[in-house]
Amino acid sequence: MKTVRVVVVGAGVVGLSTAVCIAETLPFCSVTLVADRFSPDTTSDGAAGILYAAQFPDIPLERQRRWVKDSFDHLLAIAQSQQSPEAGVMLSSGWQIFKEVPANQTPFWSDLVIGFRVMTDGELKRFPHHRFGQAFTTIKCECSSYLPWLEKRFRRAGGRVEQRKVNSLQELSTSFDLIVNCSGLGSETLVGDSQVYPVRGQVLKVEAPWLQHFIRDGDGKTYIYPGIHSVTIGGTRQEGNWKLQVDRGDSESILERCSKLEPSLCKAKILSEWVGLRPSRRNPRVEKEVVQLQGRRVPVVHNYGHGGWGVTLAWGTAMDSLGLVRQCLQETPLQAKL
Ligand code: FAD
Repeated sequence: MKTVRVVVVGAGVVGLSTAVCIAETLPFCSVTLVADRFSPDTTSDGAAGILYAAQFPDIPLERQRRWVKDSFDHLLAIAQSQQSPEAGVMLSSGWQIFKEVPANQTPFWSDLVIGFRVMTDGELKRFPHHRFGQAFTTIKCECSSYLPWLEKRFRRAGGRVEQRKVNSLQELSTSFDLIVNCSGLGSETLVGDSQVYPVRGQVLKVEAPWLQHFIRDGDGKTYIYPGIHSVTIGGTRQEGNWKLQVDRGDSESILERCSKLEPSLCKAKILSEWVGLRPSRRNPRVEKEVVQLQGRRVPVVHNYGHGGWGVTLAWGTAMDSLGLVRQCLQETPLQAKL
């Protein structure tokens, strides 16, 4: 019998991954996912979706490595299965190139992707403005397919879905025993977190089926990521900018920078332009607390603030959140219900 009522707030890649992990692993929990926006209207839907990570300053490196590894292994298994086309998950090989030789030539995730190596001088010749490069195979996860696929998987595991805005955690405290907060940038108002802020990103989707390899400038601002139906080119990283409208100047700058890296892009047809706000924070918040709501002590697990790496980290932080949910159930009087 399902005796513990869990609610997950948020239907982006983080919320859906977390909801699936809980619903599939804890049979005594009934899991409800509540969000005001679902695919195709979340930030996650427009993400370029490449698995790549930057290092957060205050989280032990081992924990960050585990997040990347758990996500990579989970998505690799999908990419190598019959589910791959429906889930929108594919292997992607290519190059990250640098104008100057970087101080750290071996990023912490280099042994977690496939075949990471330094590019040869011969390979670098096609990038005359760059002096150093790394070649590797990673994963591209197209969230416009992956999110509906995850939602189906969640429903198959008995999960329920409700579309509505949650104005405060109090609203949830009478109907649920445990709250999991995956509301991304929404956490600024939902839980009053002033540390979460937007980093605006604009990307274009272009038709260029001849491009098979990703190219990523080590500055992190310019990238070309071939996908299943189109090539995503970008981008911008504008901190504190909430503007959701497409900016013509940004599109021109993206086209100019990407065409410098890959001149054949001048001939590519533009299919769409998109803006998303990365839910950024100095460190993602993946932790538990107990909150006093309407006279009850309610356990809350937070999982948000993944910035530009939410697709990369979603499954790994979902697994951590599952562990935190288990701990909450052991520590609080809810245990009596098990
Ligand atoms: P979201 O997708 O924003 O989902 C938040 C959910 O919470 C939504 O369902 C929303 O409706 C819900 N919500 C919020 N508040 C409330 C409320 N009060 N009540 C009810 N529901 C609420 N990441 C990578 O790993 N690789 C990439 O290549 C990559 N490329 C990117 C390119 C761009 C241009 C951008 C903008 C981002 C990119 N990212 C990438 C980052 C990635 O998109 C984010 O980290 C990720 O989408 C965050 O997911 P999320 O589920 O936390 O948030």
